[in-house]
Formats: sequence, structure tokens, C-alpha cells
Amino acid sequence: MNHRVTEDFPALLAAVKRITTSVAEVHAAAVDADARFPHETLAALREAGALAAPVPRDCGGPGCTLQELAQLCSSLAQGCGSSAMVLAMHYIQVACIVRHGRESAYLRDYLRQLAREQLLLASMTSEVGTSGETRSSICAVERHDAQFKLVKDATTGSYCAHADGILVTCRRNSDAAASDQVLVLVRKGDYTLTQTTSWDTLGMRGTCSPGFKLDARGSAEQIIPGPFADSSACTMVPYSHILWASLWWGIAASALGRAAEYVRSSARKTPGTIPPAATRLAETAERLQAMRHGWQALASEFDAIDSRPEGAEELHSMGWALKMNNLKINASQAAPPIVHQALQITGILGYKNDSKFSLGRHYRDVLSASLMISNDRITAKNASMLLVFKDL
Ligand SMILES: Cc1cc2nc3c(=O)[nH]c(=O)nc-3n(C[C@H](O)[C@H](O)[C@H](O)COP(=O)(O)OP(=O)(O)OC[C@H]3O[C@@H](n4cnc5c(N)ncnc54)[C@H](O)[C@@H]3O)c2cc1C
Repeated sequence: MNHRVTEDFPALLAAVKRITTSVAEVHAAAVDADARFPHETLAALREAGALAAPVPRDCGGPGCTLQELAQLCSSLAQGCGSSAMVLAMHYIQVACIVRHGRESAYLRDYLRQLAREQLLLASMTSEVGTSGETRSSICAVERHDAQFKLVKDATTGSYCAHADGILVTCRRNSDAAASDQVLVLVRKGDYTLTQTTSWDTLGMRGTCSPGFKLDARGSAEQIIPGPFADSSACTMVPYSHILWASLWWGIAASALGRAAEYVRSSARKTPGTIPPAATRLAETAERLQAMRHGWQALASEFDAIDSRPEGAEELHSMGWALKMNNLKINASQAAPPIVHQALQITGILGYKNDSKFSLGRHYRDVLSASLMISNDRITAKNASMLLVFKDL
């Protein structure tokens, strides 16, 4: 296992922890109530240089490992789930450019600019007509000499209206099959966004994710080299499932933290006795720990595989795809019951929206986990892989 610690990581983690308690948590209720973008948190993350965390040293960033990025997202999620989801989605997009675009001088320059100016990247994989099937596109990039044109009707586009650029999936050209996709970086100023739906949701309200029609132009150098099949298997899927699991854990940890504070305050009122809810707290803490071990172990395994010359081959394997899918399903199923148990412990004080033990936002935020790439869709993919894959 790879336990390399990036030189600048401890300072970055300390900064994100400070932002979690002094900024993200302070504004989380307003972000949730108004379904507004967490501007204050993103400004503080920019100030701390946190948006460049995945950018390698030779392009001006610290070059954090996946384990380290997961720690940053899990920490921020303890203050505000929406902010952590924005940070995670940004890291996933940056990682796609870092890991699949570094051969391109244009994209290396872009990474330097991203690190210098702390640019925020969003993602458009969903599309009207394909819904949650990320490995299928209807829209196609049209190349004319050294330029491209791309029009996409996306069902969900988190914080697209607040981003400096978007990574968009599409077909390689208008003759290509639905699964013959590429990733295209579209840059603010070169596209228009027309909002097509609203984002008045149960949870993750601060991600500001309505549908958008995108109309973009740019240089053909903005098309990430290589097929999306590669960037999806080696980067987008592992980074998504590991970072999402880490932030869902962070939300659950924050909920259980409130429950633990409640139990301790009850214990202080009756010294010498253990409050009945303490047993439920102990049982739920076991589940929280198991959940943490899940994403930490796979982040560590990913970093180890990635450091080996034949790593890409392993990341393309069915065994690895199943592990990633299982992590996503397990984490998205584990988080809501942990928050539910926290609510049983805090009782009416957790149910109230204006108490320091409130759990409504945590509850609603974690319910998005099983839908964000539908678990049913992922299970159906696992079922077909398990017809041929025997090494369980
Ligand atoms: C908080 C949040 C942020 C998001 N941000 C973005 C973003 O920034 N960019 C982006 O592109 N997308 C984003 N998405 C969208 C996400 O990527 C998925 O596209 C979306 O969640 C899937 O929507 P769906 O349920 O309509 O689609 P589907 O996956 O099509 O599911 C619809 C229904 O079909 C069922 N179903 C689907 N496939 C199968 C199957 N094989 N077997 C059985 N049942 C099946 C599901 O159970 C479900 O009931 C976001 C989603 C969330 C929740």
C-alpha cells in the first residue's frame, strides 16, 4: 500500500479543517435553506489554494494523492455536504485532465492557469435521452479545422453557472456510436448556458444542479486526448466513487458527532450513570468506522495500483470495476441509516430545524447518494460482469 504524504498536504488539510468549522458550517444552513451556491466556502478554499490540490508539482499544484483528496472532502463534508460535493466534483474533473491530458502542452498550460487562478471546474455527463448512463452520449463534438463546436442538453449540471469551465462528455464525432465518447473542456467565455429545469431538491441544495443547454466553441486542443472509456475507467469512476463515499461518510460523521454531543450533555446531567442512548451511539459508531475503512482502503489501493507501471491495465479490469461499484453502493446505503440512528439518539432536538442538534440537512443530503448514478443501474452492471467474472 502507498502511504506517501505529499509535502504540502498537512498544511492544506489543516486549512480545510479550519474552513470546515469557521466558514462551511457557519453558512451551511443558509446555503441549504436558500438552495444557493456556497460562495463563502469556495472563496475560502480558493484563498487556501485548495482547488489546485490534484494538480502536480510541475504544473504548480501540490499533487495530492487520492487518499489525501478523500481526506479533504471528508473533512469539508462535516461542515457542509453541498460544499464537499462541489469540491469533490471539481477534483474529479481536474484529475481527468491531470491523468489524461498531460501529454498536451495546451492542457498542461491550462493546469498551470487553474492552479494560479484557482479555477473551478464542473461536469456535464448526464444528458436528456441518456439520463444517468454516463457511458453513452447523444451529442457529438463537431471539428472544423482547429476549432470545435459542441451543443449538449444536460439533465443535471452542478454549479455550472458558477464554474470557470466544464468537462463535457459527447460522441467523438457525429458518425460515432453512442459509447464512442470523448471529454471536452469548455471554458467560460466560450459557451452559453440556458437553464432548462429548476433545482428545488430535498438535499444537496447548495450544489445548484439544474438542467442546462450548453452551446460551446473552442480550440480542438481542448478535447482531452484518448477515448473517454479510458478516462472513465482509470479516473472518473474511481475518483467519483471514492471521493463521494468519503464525503457521504463526512456527513454521517457530522450527524453522529451531534448525537455524541447530545449523549455527553445528557451524561453530565446525571453523573455516574450511562444514558440509555449511549448504547445506540456505540453501535452506530461501529457502522461509521466500517464505512470509513471502506473508502480509505480503496483510496489507498488506488494510489498503490497507480504507482505501478502496469497500473492502468489493473484499473481497466473487471475486478477493479466491481470493487468501485460495490464501494459506491455500500457507502450510499450505509450513510442514511447512520444519520437515522443519530436522529433516534437526539430525538426531537435533532428533528427540529433550529436546534444545535438539528439533523434535517444531513438526512436530506445523504439521500442523494443512492440516486447520484442510480444504484439500480450500477447493480445491473455488476450483475452482467458477475456472469463472467469468477474471482469474488
Ligand atoms: C446531487 C447531485 C448532483 C449531480 N450533479 C451532476 C453534474 O454535475 N453533472 C451531471 O452530468 N450529472 C449530475 N448529476 C446527475 C447524475 O449524474 C445522474 O445522472 C442522475 O442522478 C441520474 O438520474 P435519474 O435517476 O433520472 O437517472 P437513471 O439512472 O436513468 O434512473 C432512473 C430510474 O431508472 C432506474 N434504472 C436505471 N437503470 C436501471 C437498470 N439498469 N436496472 C434497473 N433500474 C434502472 C433507476 O432505479 C431509477 O428509478 C447529479 C445528481 C445529483 C443527485
